[in-house]
Amino acid sequence: MEKANVVIIGGGISGLMAATRLIQTRPELKVVLLEKGFDIDTRTCPIVTGKVPTCIRCNSCGIMEGLAGAGAYSDGKYVISTEYGGWLTDFMEKPEVMKYIEQADAILVENGATTERFNPSNELKTLCLQHDLHMQQAQLKHLGTDANFSTMKNMVDALRGKVDIRTRSTVTDVDGDHKIVTYIHNKEEIKLEADVVIFAVGRAGSNFFSKWCQRHGIKLSNNQVDIGVRVELPYEVWKHFSSVIYEPKIWFRSKKYGDVTRMFCFNERGQVVMENTNDILTVNGHAYKDEAKKSPNSNFALLSTIKFTTPFNEPIDYARHVARLGNLISGGSVLVQRFGDLIVGRRTDEKRLSSSTVVPTLKAVPGDLSLCMPKRQLDNIIETLYALDEIAPGTANHDTLLYGVECKYYSARPECVDFELTKYPGCYAIGDGAGFTRSLSQAAANGLYVADLLLKKDDFTK
Ligand SMILES: Cc1cc2nc3c(=O)[nH]c(=O)nc-3n(C[C@H](O)[C@H](O)[C@H](O)COP(=O)(O)OP(=O)(O)OC[C@H]3O[C@@H](n4cnc5c(N)ncnc54)[C@H](O)[C@@H]3O)c2cc1C
Repeated sequence: MEKANVVIIGGGISGLMAATRLIQTRPELKVVLLEKGFDIDTRTCPIVTGKVPTCIRCNSCGIMEGLAGAGAYSDGKYVISTEYGGWLTDFMEKPEVMKYIEQADAILVENGATTERFNPSNELKTLCLQHDLHMQQAQLKHLGTDANFSTMKNMVDALRGKVDIRTRSTVTDVDGDHKIVTYIHNKEEIKLEADVVIFAVGRAGSNFFSKWCQRHGIKLSNNQVDIGVRVELPYEVWKHFSSVIYEPKIWFRSKKYGDVTRMFCFNERGQVVMENTNDILTVNGHAYKDEAKKSPNSNFALLSTIKFTTPFNEPIDYARHVARLGNLISGGSVLVQRFGDLIVGRRTDEKRLSSSTVVPTLKAVPGDLSLCMPKRQLDNIIETLYALDEIAPGTANHDTLLYGVECKYYSARPECVDFELTKYPGCYAIGDGAGFTRSLSQAAANGLYVADLLLKKDDFTK
């Protein structure tokens, strides 16, 4: 059987960073990177290229899968802070996390990323506080979808010939005791033995990974789930924030339920996009750096956080269920509704949408979000939109567009010590797919950290 020193499952930023560090430090290592999607040069989304108006559920979603992972077509907002973006500080000291975030940033800069940083603003934070809104403060870089893609491409290209990269290779099982990885390539089942296996499967692989853990008796602990909408409005409404800090990340505790609803993933003059995760369509957003590709609208996620208590412990299934309902009533797409229509309790139809002063950047089906979103989350979203309207008047305008459903489900965390699975020494899990991170910067930092852990051990290659 073919043998490798390290097999990395998943070619997103966490896997790429781990591979980069391993091969730069020990070029003699045989590192194999298995990625179920396409190579970065050939991955594509027919909606993005304008071939189809709506998601046709490709076998491999070009937005979520392929070399460079979910980050490839992302907006490239790079958070230089531990304030948000994941939970690495549950495992490492803050300065250690920051050290790795900075190291990952340096690698991105080597590959073409900007050095420009947005700094937090105390004046804007104060304005938020005056209205019971809470803004998280962080240094931030904004690469933009186009520059982010070329940076990621340079990073992948730098690994070619040094790391054995195998695309269209879907891992179906791992024998944790013997580190034998089974994957399918061109319908053929192939086995590969390794000294070390790193699961870096991202959100697209979280289903596979949690099922694998359950099958092998690895204890999982669930994180929260966030459900809500993508808000789209004229960019002028939030310009006083976005021109200073680029991304306002603001949370609000609703009076009605005491739940937290968060505004984040802000895209100035961007586009709303659809994403397909394991056959469920949800929404997201991005923005180009190129002036010619900018829209007149900004968009952001507005999601209400739910933490379930016993006996229910399937938050991901819950979110998928809600999103699936949105897909069902939109005839296999996602919904869009004007805020004003939602408030008066009527559907947005084609006619009402065509009279909207905010022109949608995504072709979604006009409809009624109250038919698929649970009341509690919808109430939270409405209350938060009115609260945000206090600091950015116009947010709760009649024609503000709400797309649904957007959800961020964070994968269940496996039982581990220093990211090494307790049950299977030599098997590591990193990034979004293992519920440790939820951003480019922390996923990247996680990859570098685990690579360093291995490099510190003299004996990890047998
Ligand atoms: C549209 C969009 C915009 C975003 N914008 C931002 C942003 O601006 N800033 C930010 O910080 N974060 C952003 N994010 C989140 C960010 O992309 C993720 O946090 C980050 O990509 C996580 O990295 P990862 O390596 O853990 O996983 P991923 O990037 O998801 O990579 C995992 C890879 O593993 C592969 N894989 C899964 N299962 C298997 C298997 N069984 N076999 C082989 N391969 C497998 C997948 O195909 C995928 O390529 C965005 C996400 C999306 C979808």
